Amino acid sequence: MQRFYIVEKEDLGSRELGQKIRTALISHHKEIDENNPQCVVTVGGDGTFLHAVHKFKHISEVVFVGLHTGTLGFFTNYEKDEVDTLIDHLLNQTPVIESTHLIEARITHEQTVTILEALNEVRIENIVRTQEIQVYINQELMEIFRGNGLCVSGQAGSTAYNRSIGGAIIVPGIDVLQLTEISGIHNKAYQSIRSPLVLPKDTSITLISDNFKGAKILYDHHVLDLDDVSKVEIITSTKKVNMARYRPTSYIKRLHCLF
Ligand code: NAD
Repeated sequence: MQRFYIVEKEDLGSRELGQKIRTALISHHKEIDENNPQCVVTVGGDGTFLHAVHKFKHISEVVFVGLHTGTLGFFTNYEKDEVDTLIDHLLNQTPVIESTHLIEARITHEQTVTILEALNEVRIENIVRTQEIQVYINQELMEIFRGNGLCVSGQAGSTAYNRSIGGAIIVPGIDVLQLTEISGIHNKAYQSIRSPLVLPKDTSITLISDNFKGAKILYDHHVLDLDDVSKVEIITSTKKVNMARYRPTSYIKRLHCLF
């Protein structure tokens, strides 16, 4: 690959490592290209990787590779003392590309539809009042949920927010959408399914409410108000994120590094 871009976390250590990679690439006659890179290198954590994906996801062929400056993450394949190995791989090896679909949320507001995309998850949350949501799976009413909200994640996001709210971890190679409750109310008056629901990737999940006042929609690290919205449909996007794998990294090792 010829055209690179480096996205670093703000801290000094990440900036120094980013600069080291940049200098090495330039000295080997590679270009630093912010507009049309072929490869984006992230230096920081999974959050830095997510920021880079949102910045460059409009370029369908771009590939991402991550160096972690803390402990090994889910989107990062190199630790900080492996920066020389990463530079060597970038300059001399051809990666295997692993692609993961983004999740797409279509927000209906009067006559307009806004489309949002996420790598980890899309979630609706209302921390101010009980949020009532009619949940349709492929246009069939499944339940009326009441509680703080609902989270829809894909395989990549299963270890992120989804895991904190009791969702299942999905190993790579299984392409799904997972619907998980956020503080659901379960009592004599109100019931919803409660368990995380794992669905085929081509499922449409539609969330409808007469009143989303005070609710937010969060997609990865981004957030929007849902105040005047009536309907949010969540599907698997046709768009993919391409991750460059120069060497295998054990998923079990990543899981072990989580805690
Ligand atoms: P951030 O970048 O500070 O990340 C928060 C934590 O989530 C970090 O420890 C990060 O390493 C981890 N993380 C992110 N993606 C992950 C993944 N796919 N698998 C395992 N861990 C992952 O936070 P931010 O920029 O506000 O939000 C980015 C992401 O952080 C969100 O998409 C959400 O999934 C996650 N998050 C998790 C919680 C939680 O678990 N309670 C709370 C807020 C955000």
